[in-house]
Amino acid sequence: MSHIFPRHTQSLPPLADHGEGVYLFDKSGKKYLDGSGGAAVSCLGHSDSDVLDAMRSQMDRLAFAHTSFLTSQPAESLADRLIANAPDGIEKVYLVSGGSEAVESALKLARQYMLETGQGSRTKFIARKQSYHGNTLGALGTGGNMWRREPFDPVMVSASHIDPCYEYRLREDGESEEEYGLRAASALEEEILRQGPENVIGFLAEPVVGATAGAVPAVAGYFKRIREICDQYGVLLILDEVMCGMGRTGTLFACEQDGIAPDIVTIAKGLGAGYQPIGAMLCSGQIYDAIAAGSGFFQHGHTYLGHPIAAAAADAVVKKLTEGGMAARSAQMGNVLFEALQAEFGQHPNVGDIRGRGMFRGIELVADRDSKTPFDPDRKVAAQLKKTAFENGLICYPMNGTIDGRHGDHILLAPPFIISEDQIGELVDKLSRSLGQVL
Ligand code: PMP
Repeated sequence: MSHIFPRHTQSLPPLADHGEGVYLFDKSGKKYLDGSGGAAVSCLGHSDSDVLDAMRSQMDRLAFAHTSFLTSQPAESLADRLIANAPDGIEKVYLVSGGSEAVESALKLARQYMLETGQGSRTKFIARKQSYHGNTLGALGTGGNMWRREPFDPVMVSASHIDPCYEYRLREDGESEEEYGLRAASALEEEILRQGPENVIGFLAEPVVGATAGAVPAVAGYFKRIREICDQYGVLLILDEVMCGMGRTGTLFACEQDGIAPDIVTIAKGLGAGYQPIGAMLCSGQIYDAIAAGSGFFQHGHTYLGHPIAAAAADAVVKKLTEGGMAARSAQMGNVLFEALQAEFGQHPNVGDIRGRGMFRGIELVADRDSKTPFDPDRKVAAQLKKTAFENGLICYPMNGTIDGRHGDHILLAPPFIISEDQIGELVDKLSRSLGQVL
């Protein structure tokens, strides 16, 4: 009997044995095509020798040094590399162990910034419905996924939630993309005014929504307007790129494609590419300088900040994404994936939308394509699809999303950037077969 506490107590997963490129193998020898990189993690596949070599040589040198006392060469190198490729104004990197920790750090830094700059009345965060920012209480409290929040609501610090920028469901007939982007962004201004600008710390959003709605990018112009609104009211713009960052959408940071720079940005998943647990919170020079000129101490911290082996792995990953051209490959092969999905599912009666950027693609499933009516949640289409695809040797990431009571089934595809055209064909074939079995 296993003593591991599993995610689902009634279905123990098979034992993973080894990984090779885009494939995972279980103990029985069964082969799975990793069509979602786990959860948009394994951007370089499962056996990247450069990352493994970087970890090995760091292990031989130094495994751990507590950041209260010492910094380390891989942490410094990783921070330099990230800043050299970061959005304008982003100057400092705070290395943590995963996405939720990165978001917690961002929320606390934002609050401390307000205190250090004499704006202590600012205590509230605004985020979006149908969002996920992590499972720790602070990150969960800002997230807008009702199912995940509900049991913990009484013990959380809560954010208020505006509608996301979700073109497929929320753009009105006759409304241009630009008009919709401005209307969607105006919800932020309304919420800031409702809360009182002097009470709001920041606005938190994913540039391309991942774990709650299957790769939903904002329409052009939305984030530009969001940036203007934040500036106008002195509200910090915090972008959560834990899932969509690190080349996943075809550029190192997803927000590059929206033409804006945040005050704070969080990354994880693809940063360690699955080789090590690591995340980061990056902030502007302005925020850092305010802390440096004030208390001089960010009142936060974890034991494993800047872990040297994790940093060495991430440094090798970011080098491959940038100098090694892997982020560009995500853009290029992402188009191949998109076209293959369009060709296979573009006319499917139960496929409402195929979307995303780069190697971050989503499919929204519907009971009726014309009316966009979602499936009855009792059919559990997403859960069935996950199970059937897995049996067919495909790991994909189906999910349920709910906004204002509308249910939805989505599939997230986020394969490693090294995937070949043939393997994309295999992925689409397996997905098509699985969908046929479920519907
Ligand atoms: N933010 C986003 C956008 C995420 O997708 C996730 C994980 N799915 C998190 C935060 C939390 O990251 P972690 O699971 O590493 O704590």
